Amino acid sequence: MSHSSSLRQGECSVDFFNKREALITAARSLAGLGLNAGTSGNLSVRAGAVMLITPSAMAYDSITPDMIAAMPLNGEYGSWEGPKRPSSEWRFHLDIMRAKPEVGAIVHSHAPYATALAMARRPIPACHYMVTRFGGGDVRCAPYALFGTAELSTYAVAALQDRTACLLANHGLIATGATLDAAMAAAVELEMLAKQYCFALAIGGPVLLSEHDIAAATQQFATAYKPNV
Ligand code: 13P
Ligand code: ZN
Repeated sequence: MSHSSSLRQGECSVDFFNKREALITAARSLAGLGLNAGTSGNLSVRAGAVMLITPSAMAYDSITPDMIAAMPLNGEYGSWEGPKRPSSEWRFHLDIMRAKPEVGAIVHSHAPYATALAMARRPIPACHYMVTRFGGGDVRCAPYALFGTAELSTYAVAALQDRTACLLANHGLIATGATLDAAMAAAVELEMLAKQYCFALAIGGPVLLSEHDIAAATQQFATAYKPNV
């Protein structure tokens, strides 16, 4: 481990300035989006050979680009560079990025509706076609494990198989994306879906979509609802 504040090995200068700034901007926006409060949650972004991750137990307003920790994706597991200790959840951030090359960024938050479902240990079923945005017919809830542990990371990676997001029992949510913007959008969409599911549960529970409906919605997103560029 090092506490140098110079350019990290494997990180180009554009990454150093842009990705660190973007990570801080995204972290600061979590509260306004209703996704977080206080020092809960953490964010990471892939930058060449390293993963950049928010420091542990710090108010996002007080973080400067140099305080973002850099961890090698394939070097010594758990080693890091920076003046501040990386997030206590660095294991699941690193393990997800190592297991899923398509993931460029990860957002973890204790968003209220997703966390309410996670406290009840309820996955989100096929209650709305938007569930397909996360890769299939449900959003899983990983079993409970102590925060910051390898056990939690193992459960999170398993819950994210063929999915881009999951709940963590009695804890919160993880949302991933190819980019930081995509991971943030996934976190917002997941919290909205969780909120809608909570409301439906409160009035007797949703009617679930069939496997056919889910397949059709997946197909519709892939064809008719492509990015509008
Ligand atoms: P950090 O402040 O260490 O990132 O931890 C916050 C959190 O949400 C732990 O699960
Ligand atoms: Zn957490």
